Amino acid sequence: MTGVSVKTVAFTTTIPQEIIWAAGAVPVDLNNVFITGNSADYIRRAEALGIPRATCSWIKGIMGVVDDIRPDTVIAVTEGDCSNNHALMSQFRYHYPDMSILGFSYPQDKDPNMLQLQLKKLMDHLHVSPVEVDLFKKKLDELRHKLRDIDDLQTQHIGLSGKALQRLLISSTDFNQNLATYESELDQWISLLSRSALDLKTCRIGISGVPSILSDLSDLIETRFPARIVYFEVESDFAMMEPSQILVEQYLQFRYPYELFARIAAMNQQIKEKGLVAMVHYVQSFCHRQIEASIIQKLLDVPVLVLEGDAPGPVDMRTQIRIEQFMERITGATL
Ligand code: SF4
Repeated sequence: MTGVSVKTVAFTTTIPQEIIWAAGAVPVDLNNVFITGNSADYIRRAEALGIPRATCSWIKGIMGVVDDIRPDTVIAVTEGDCSNNHALMSQFRYHYPDMSILGFSYPQDKDPNMLQLQLKKLMDHLHVSPVEVDLFKKKLDELRHKLRDIDDLQTQHIGLSGKALQRLLISSTDFNQNLATYESELDQWISLLSRSALDLKTCRIGISGVPSILSDLSDLIETRFPARIVYFEVESDFAMMEPSQILVEQYLQFRYPYELFARIAAMNQQIKEKGLVAMVHYVQSFCHRQIEASIIQKLLDVPVLVLEGDAPGPVDMRTQIRIEQFMERITGATL
């Protein structure tokens, strides 16, 4: 490893964290800090700093977390993620002039050469070589392999609650900032799931769309109905469980930043493989990705309930009623 001054590298959505680990820095997924911390306070901070109230809560949360933890570097994904990130970068530059702010783009045409250039830019910024990054890719691949084992075991045994599965998948975007602790948690789950009985009866549901900000969405479905959530579309994509030889291949297999129809094909594949009977598609208020929802609803091979959330917290009464009506129809159970 060459001389590195960076200590904490935060980011606005999933990026090649292998490069950050190889640089001897700690990756921090700002979304994870927001949703597991004092979310309401982060939103208040962001609004006080000038983010308009009618902005996606995830964006406000990211701003609030950056204000709180003041990372050494922030990487904002400017293509392939969120159109708000350009404006967010201006806010970062204005409020934190000493912070290192870097853009990262996923090329919309999936051009491997363009993506390779982005990877190189990030490596140069963090003063790390491709050889050093490759070593960390191999280490992180071991963890991703274990996540795949858990995903397979969950499909057969359904031993994890939806909430636990979602947390495990989504925290792989920065491996909870500690590879050893995260791996030991994976080992515990693998051991536990391997010993639990096969479950072929429970009604299997998937959740697609950007990670839900609603704290009790999975619990609501699983505790009121004979159903379990065994698939989280975007969170599974973030976990990058498909094997790959090199970094550029891994980040081309990543579907979230690219076009919608590959995501839909992957969802239909998972519907088949996991035996899903319905999908709940989550959309965030003030998010441009809402425009995709009607296409997803039309093209998935199972019934789809589209739900919208705004602020972090429990499901509101109106949404609860919609979930109940949908789940009664899907499971045949009545409350
Ligand atoms: S939910 Fe939509 S608007 Fe909000 S950060 Fe994500 S992509 Fe951007």
